[in-house]
Amino acid sequence: HADAALNEAKKKGRNKYYFYSEALHRQIVQKMMVESELQNALLNQQFILFFQPQMRSSDQKLIGVEALVRWAHPEKGVIPPGGFIAIAEESGLIRDIGQWVLQTACCQMKRWQENGGPKIPISVNLSMNQFHDEDLLKNITTALDVSGLDPRYLDLEITESTMAKDIERSKNMLNEIRKMGISVSLDDFGTGYSSLSYLKNLPINRLKIDRSFVSDIDHNVRDRAIVAAIVAMAEHLWIDVLAEGIETSAQLRAVADCRCDAIQGYLYSKPVGGNDFEASFLRKGRH
Ligand code: C2E
Ligand code: MG
Ligand code: MG
Ligand code: MG
Repeated sequence: HADAALNEAKKKGRNKYYFYSEALHRQIVQKMMVESELQNALLNQQFILFFQPQMRSSDQKLIGVEALVRWAHPEKGVIPPGGFIAIAEESGLIRDIGQWVLQTACCQMKRWQENGGPKIPISVNLSMNQFHDEDLLKNITTALDVSGLDPRYLDLEITESTMAKDIERSKNMLNEIRKMGISVSLDDFGTGYSSLSYLKNLPINRLKIDRSFVSDIDHNVRDRAIVAAIVAMAEHLWIDVLAEGIETSAQLRAVADCRCDAIQGYLYSKPVGGNDFEASFLRKGRH
């Protein structure tokens, strides 16, 4: 009888609505909890930066370093950005987190340079909301002022989809950023939509070829053709190219055959904490 009654109830739209709203409610509560945890994380300084080297493979030289945020959660351990950036983006908290990242990355690079480290840029990822924030230029200026970092040692990584949100505004912003002496990398290149018109219209210094074109490159002729074509095109446009996500020496050889010499990936190093990065890549004689 109970089953029959339930089936009867299920047929009624009102009842369905009830089920959905309960699920939705749970989702909203869950999101609010993460949001307030993120807020706490900011207050309690639970965010940390990891660093991954960018290398020139032909001479094993360190040419840059990317700062990647982590959440050092007191119970759950170190949480990668995939676990919180989206919620931070939706809730607007990314503005504060992103500014913390930008400022901390600039300060770290300044300190490394003062301690005799190489004169290389630090790359910082800018999120969609961060890039389209009306205070963007002011925020960047603040980070540079607070850290004392020479703007030519700051590189901002922006994705195609971030630009696509408002291409005209993006162009203006990038021009301003470039005028400040900062360089710009197009991150995850190849995964967005109208790559070619971006290349034509936007003042970009470097393409970071997305890992998806690299992971199979040593046995996939299509990936190889695409990477070779990107590199050839970039050469004519005077844009640098870096291949992301190089894990094996076979992949390294394949991208090098495509004349792409700048790489980032587990082959050289996973992203590591500041002290580890210093020990492995910045000690005297290492650069
Ligand atoms: P991304 O900017 O494309 O960063 C590269 C990601 O690929 C990093 O993941 C890095 O750990 C990973 N990676 C590097 N080499 C390899 C490799 O050889 N193999 C594999 N399988 N993965 C590799 P991570 O640190 O988890 O960051 C993921 C994404 O989160 C980043 O992608 C970036 O879009 C975003 N992100 C990271 N830090 C920040 C930040 O401070 N602010 C913002 N807005 N986004 C960030
Ligand atoms: Mg990046
Ligand atoms: Mg990327
Ligand atoms: Mg990526």
